[in-house]
Amino acid sequence: MSESAAPSLTIGFIGLGRMGSPMARLLIDGGHRVLGFDLAPEALTHLAEAGGTPVHSAGEAAAADVVVLMLPDSTVVTAVLRDHDVVAALAADSIVIDMSSSEPMRTRELAGELAERGIHLVDAPVSGGVRGAETGKLTIMVGGEAGIVARVMPVLELLGRPVRAGDVGAGHAVKALNNLMSATHLWVTSEAMIAGQKFGLDPEVMLSVFNGSSGRSGSTENKWPNFVLPGGYDSGFGLRLMLKDMLIATALARAVGVEPALGDEAVQLWSRAADDLEPTADHTEVARWIGSSAHPSGH
Ligand code: NAD
Repeated sequence: MSESAAPSLTIGFIGLGRMGSPMARLLIDGGHRVLGFDLAPEALTHLAEAGGTPVHSAGEAAAADVVVLMLPDSTVVTAVLRDHDVVAALAADSIVIDMSSSEPMRTRELAGELAERGIHLVDAPVSGGVRGAETGKLTIMVGGEAGIVARVMPVLELLGRPVRAGDVGAGHAVKALNNLMSATHLWVTSEAMIAGQKFGLDPEVMLSVFNGSSGRSGSTENKWPNFVLPGGYDSGFGLRLMLKDMLIATALARAVGVEPALGDEAVQLWSRAADDLEPTADHTEVARWIGSSAHPSGH
């Protein structure tokens, strides 16, 4: 790390993937000492190039004032937080921030386990995609005790705009619900855009009309113009990760006694696309899939 950066905190960062890698870089640029760990060796190389300190186990990364997790899901988060070396390394009064899109019920359970050892858990999932992670413009949905959240606000503010949603688990809940809405919008937007084009409408004209009308959404304002129409399908957010979030949201709805009728239907449609497409497919690929012959007609 450069000598001019006077680090105020040692931050452990576990999960240096498409989101975690640019986020860790912003924390380094913000003057913190970042101990980063990922299972992928190339992620550690990128961290070193950005001025961070790569370490070779989650336990080494957990010896920090604050530990940030940006991992695929609750199963991985739970495995990391129950790892013996991590448990041994986490100091009393340290703060773990789970920025992954995890399951709110499991987050609450983990918070209880950590609290028994005097460790605080804050959930802080994000929206804004890889672009938001690179530019420090993420929307961050924060759950946790107000006093603990206040302590990590300066760290979160380096990454975007944190909004406290409530107590622990609240961030993960609102994030999953947001993505269920987002996925459902993207599906119906894609059906409308494809139908309109087959009717002979110009897609740019359609988007311009929708964006000035009540059909607008993140899909008409961002996903279709930036990732679908240009043909890149490169938002950086995986289809399987979106499906995971949708399942978290429908399970949450059911757990509180709400029947997610449209949500369940959306999960089924997205599951079919996920079965057909490559495991690494971007979530915006569903637009191409809906328009392709792979989409079963007569559904
Ligand atoms: P990713 O697959 O690119 O990164 C996950 C990283 O975790 C990988 O580098 C992987 O090697 C690492 N990893 C997995 N298990 C590990 C372990 N046990 N120890 C250490 N490292 C491990 O995924 P991503 O797109 O960066 O997403 C991360 C999280 O952020 C997910 O929960 C996702 O739902 C959420 N999210 C992603 C986006 C996006 O646009 N990509 C947007 C918002 C939220």
